[in-house]
Amino acid sequence: MKPPVLQAEGLRVTFPGKGRRQGVTAVDDVSLRIDRGETLGLVGESGSGKSTTGRAVLRLVPLETGRIHVDGEDVTRYRGAQLRRLRRQMQMVFQDPYSSLDPSAPVGSSIAEPLRVHEKMAKQARRDRVEELLDLVGLRPSHADRYPYEFSGGQRQRVAIARALALHPRLIVCDEAVSALDVSTQNQVINLLEDLRERFELSYLFIAHDLAVVRHIAHRVAVMYLGRIVESGPVERVYSQPAHPYTQALLSAIPVPDPKRRGAKRILLSGDLPDPSAPPPGCPFHTRCAYAMDVCKREMPAMTPVAGGGETACHLQTTGPTLAGRPLSEKEVPA
Ligand code: SF4
Repeated sequence: MKPPVLQAEGLRVTFPGKGRRQGVTAVDDVSLRIDRGETLGLVGESGSGKSTTGRAVLRLVPLETGRIHVDGEDVTRYRGAQLRRLRRQMQMVFQDPYSSLDPSAPVGSSIAEPLRVHEKMAKQARRDRVEELLDLVGLRPSHADRYPYEFSGGQRQRVAIARALALHPRLIVCDEAVSALDVSTQNQVINLLEDLRERFELSYLFIAHDLAVVRHIAHRVAVMYLGRIVESGPVERVYSQPAHPYTQALLSAIPVPDPKRRGAKRILLSGDLPDPSAPPPGCPFHTRCAYAMDVCKREMPAMTPVAGGGETACHLQTTGPTLAGRPLSEKEVPA
């Protein structure tokens, strides 16, 4: 059996504080696995640590602890040439394509940049590859000579995807890659990503705050809260039987096309995300959880398997009434 494209274990990323300000642990004990040809959705509120996790697996931010394996190879300590070789295999697509496209250069030049840096290619061969990449993402070869401002948001994102594909990567981290687009353009870009995944057996870490979008593209999903993964599992199970109260609240906020589930009660989260530089003790979600028990304020819940696949970090799975993906009734809510 082939090893996963990405296996990350126990990742911890802390940004040091400045002056009197406390340092912030943005990612804490995060483990992920992505198989070849698989899409893992990473969801959570803004500030939950999703983007930092994406950057950590690409080795773009320093790890305090943890290990990263790519195709079975431990890349945690890679430096210099090894790291540059690794970067060819793992690319990133951002929400704002301007962060990877030079606004003052024709897009063909931006797409060709990784080829200039990493490949010794003759000028004409590079131009041919750029045109091939534009064709792959549904744009015309002549678009290579246009500037980013001449494209719509969806077309710019296609250009950013073409650039990410230039070096034949195995994994692409899509960080809110469709969040700035309208719904119909979102669908077109998601269909494109799906086609490319099947065609090239690509794997995606698909980061988004919009759970409805993730449902359409991901095979498995991981839910982050305050730097930690609180639930993960196959999309079908997590979306139909969310086991963690935080996942339940996030899912209750998205429109449900199923008429039988329409009208299901929305679970409102009280308060804001706590300050990540001073996370609450015990379960990090206890300050906003309707089911919080005394143990939740003292002890961090461990990841526990959930019926139907995946796991969750919630004391209800072990010391309370087993959720197994079932929302507790009002009578079951701890006093
Ligand atoms: Fe809520 Fe306790 Fe479960 Fe945390 S461990 S999600 S506070 S019930």
